[in-house]
Amino acid sequence: GLDLARTTALVIGAGASGRAAAELLVFLGARVRLYDQNPGAAVPDGVEPVLGAADVPPEAFAGVDLMVLSPGVPPERFRAAQRRFAPHARVHGEMSLSLAIAGARFGRLPTVLITGTNGKSTVTALTGALLAAGGLKPFVGGNLGVPLAAALLDLLRTGAPAPDALVLECSSFQLETLEHAATDVAMVLNITPDHLDRYPTLDDYAATKARVFTGLGAGGLALLDAGDGWTEFLRARVGAGRLVLVDDPGGARIVGPGPGDSLVLPGGDTFPRAALPIPGRHNSKNALFALLAARHLGVAADACLRGLQGFHGLPHRMTFVRERAGVRFYDDSKATNVASVLASLDGFDRPFVLIAGGRAKGDDLAPLRELLRRSGRALVAIGESADSFHGLADGVVEARRATSMAEAVEVAAALAGPGDAVVLSPACASYDWFKNYGERGDTFARLVRALPAEK
Ligand code: ADP
Repeated sequence: GLDLARTTALVIGAGASGRAAAELLVFLGARVRLYDQNPGAAVPDGVEPVLGAADVPPEAFAGVDLMVLSPGVPPERFRAAQRRFAPHARVHGEMSLSLAIAGARFGRLPTVLITGTNGKSTVTALTGALLAAGGLKPFVGGNLGVPLAAALLDLLRTGAPAPDALVLECSSFQLETLEHAATDVAMVLNITPDHLDRYPTLDDYAATKARVFTGLGAGGLALLDAGDGWTEFLRARVGAGRLVLVDDPGGARIVGPGPGDSLVLPGGDTFPRAALPIPGRHNSKNALFALLAARHLGVAADACLRGLQGFHGLPHRMTFVRERAGVRFYDDSKATNVASVLASLDGFDRPFVLIAGGRAKGDDLAPLRELLRRSGRALVAIGESADSFHGLADGVVEARRATSMAEAVEVAAALAGPGDAVVLSPACASYDWFKNYGERGDTFARLVRALPAEK
């Protein structure tokens, strides 16, 4: 058990989740230190700051029985120091700690854990929407939106009732530190190369994703995409849960393409594809994952149908911005790796001018070359990796470089003709030019709206 009133905790990393964990621990009576190498990091009231040093000073480990790691920090670096200076301390992440605290305070809450390389936020939000349509009041967040620690602190402070369920988006970094946490539904949506800057091999990355299944009991449900290259690898790690495959003849199915397209669950529940407002086959799969989770938690099929109908997707995922001179502009800033660009644009209904590039993540860009060959009109390369993106289009479609988003929008608009689309789908992180993908997408959309009405 966690007797927090007698605990001395060291929280590593003063980002949103580290600060939330520190505040929650203080509220529960723990003595808390918060380390960050940034000397100017914000530290909540009641927390002892340990700021500025490149490594945690050994004295900060004095008496520590709980260490909380933030998703942004590589655990190995800090675990080594912990083993040396506070060998008996328990090590948690913010999410894992918060799940333990929620369990101790509220008893066992129905819990859905969602991970994968792409689609996490969409499936998390959609699952939340289906539960809400069924009359439940879930907490929906984690890696998306509000950290669980911040939500718990809020609940405990205000004395509000516990949520009816937890729907948590988990990044691989959060899963690294997830200890056994009772789970009802756990899913890995897909695995494609990403974050190879952090993981030595794709096997390590996939094994980290598989930690999502660690708390699945005998009554639990494990979900995997049948068509994913890692399904066999993950299937061996499902543990006690019952496995259902998505997009599989023996599991949850997509019937179509055709006018009668539908989404069919193993029990026979059938939902017309047209009920779901967000396009693309990847979103059909996302919907099946969410539907399976919601039905497992007891939401009625007719409520699920209403939930699908009301779900219009999250911003910066193939979000339509404007039509101008016959050209449609889309903000897909959230596509930060090659696989997500393919999901958005493979089979897209118009030829497109692609704006891509940014902070590279080491993905193989060759599939983009093929995508451009099949349906690209032109490429405008941006960001730090502009040269490699420019090179990729060489001899395939017209390629240009831009040194700002404003220039990229202007050049792309000039290259596109009536019936084409201009799509910002960068296949890269945004941190070279922007604070985050949201700022990148907002900047793009603002510039697009400011283009004069006529060409
Ligand atoms: P995440 O939270 O994992 O980053 P999002 O739900 O924000 O995922 O979606 C990001 C992008 O990933 C989308 O714009 C789309 O291009 C792509 N995507 C979404 N769902 C899937 C899926 N099931 N398979 C492959 N790509 C997907």
